[in-house]
Amino acid sequence: MVLLNWTKISGGAKSALLLSTLFRIASATTLETSQQIFQDTHIQTTPSTCLSKSSTIVDLVDCLDIFTVPPGFYTPESYDLAQPTPEELKGWNRTILNLLDLDVRQGPLNNARVGGWAYNITDECTPVLLDASLKANFDVTTFTDRSTQRPFCVLYEHTIYTSQSSYVRGWGLFAVPLDSDPIFLLGYDYTITQPSSQAIHISAPHPQFDRGTPQQAAAVFGSPKVGAKSLLIAGRIRMAFKEKTGCIPSPKGMNYTKTDPAHDDAQPFFTASLSLYEWQMAQGGCPPSTCAFIQFHGKGPSTCPTDTMFLSTGLGMSSFRRNSSSWYTDSIDRPIKRLQQNLKQVFPDWNATLPSDSTCSLVAANNIVGRFTNGIKPERVCREASNATLATGQFIHIEQAPVARAAEVHEKWIEAIAATFA
Ligand SMILES: [Zn+2]
Repeated sequence: MVLLNWTKISGGAKSALLLSTLFRIASATTLETSQQIFQDTHIQTTPSTCLSKSSTIVDLVDCLDIFTVPPGFYTPESYDLAQPTPEELKGWNRTILNLLDLDVRQGPLNNARVGGWAYNITDECTPVLLDASLKANFDVTTFTDRSTQRPFCVLYEHTIYTSQSSYVRGWGLFAVPLDSDPIFLLGYDYTITQPSSQAIHISAPHPQFDRGTPQQAAAVFGSPKVGAKSLLIAGRIRMAFKEKTGCIPSPKGMNYTKTDPAHDDAQPFFTASLSLYEWQMAQGGCPPSTCAFIQFHGKGPSTCPTDTMFLSTGLGMSSFRRNSSSWYTDSIDRPIKRLQQNLKQVFPDWNATLPSDSTCSLVAANNIVGRFTNGIKPERVCREASNATLATGQFIHIEQAPVARAAEVHEKWIEAIAATFA
């Protein structure tokens, strides 16, 4: 999405802010008049107030986390109503692509300031990026992290049921960075929207259930040291609708529900993951030195108790033992191997393990984003696992003990991930 505007001596970031403010006022008017808004003046916090009162991207994600659709919320009827229509789903995926396109440099005159006038053919974070089909429930706006001064473009749901502090639709949150950097070229002062230096895509599919992972994902995504390209967080707790998914059969003693985006392909989180992947491939691929799709998860302290952080790429144990015993240990450079080494460095007292040095069974072989990233077609992810021949190494699934996802160690994670993609 490219907008053309003229601005008298103002940087790209400044004009972006001005424009987004104007659009926020315009969208607030729409918001008040919409029949589908469930606002209550007695409620102090709404998703929109989270945007205005949060000072960092972690605060923002933490504030929005309370609207995650809670356990057992859905009946079959209410679930059907909350799910996107085919048109809305297309709009959701289109909007995600619009945001991803935001900071791709399209040429040296993408955003130029000449003399006293700014000639901007620039990418701005405005509600124009939001597909028309989503306007009743979603918004796109700029959010600036006050601790780093980094602006982000955020797609979020603004509608909630105030009686239950729950999103009305619950599809999730998506964000990209909006960095711009002034440079001086051929005697002219240009502001060029910088592409993110890394193609790191961070996600948290299990809000509230894997406690702390949305905030951890936001901390890593928001750090200028990491330079991540996107953040995706699911909007429903995995058991918001307790009915079993028809996608991945539940293993013994477990319940893969219809609202678990790691195991149900009808979740907007999953389709967003497909869009992200396809977008990345269209940029020339996902080189192991700079690119990965990282999912943060949390496990209970009694599950795999000796593995503080257990990393896997989504290969099943049987496949691992039979065909891929060397996948994690061969000489091929893979981001997951570098990350394990860097985690060992920054957390010397904790165990950072791979399937090759642990018996932990949380290898993510049933994770449908992992299956897709590892070469399985979207229409087959529910019934076909990947294998060592197909595995790309682009998917990094991280299971963690509670201590490893605490706010106190966010900086350590930033350090390890930044070093992995340096
Ligand atoms: Zn999880």
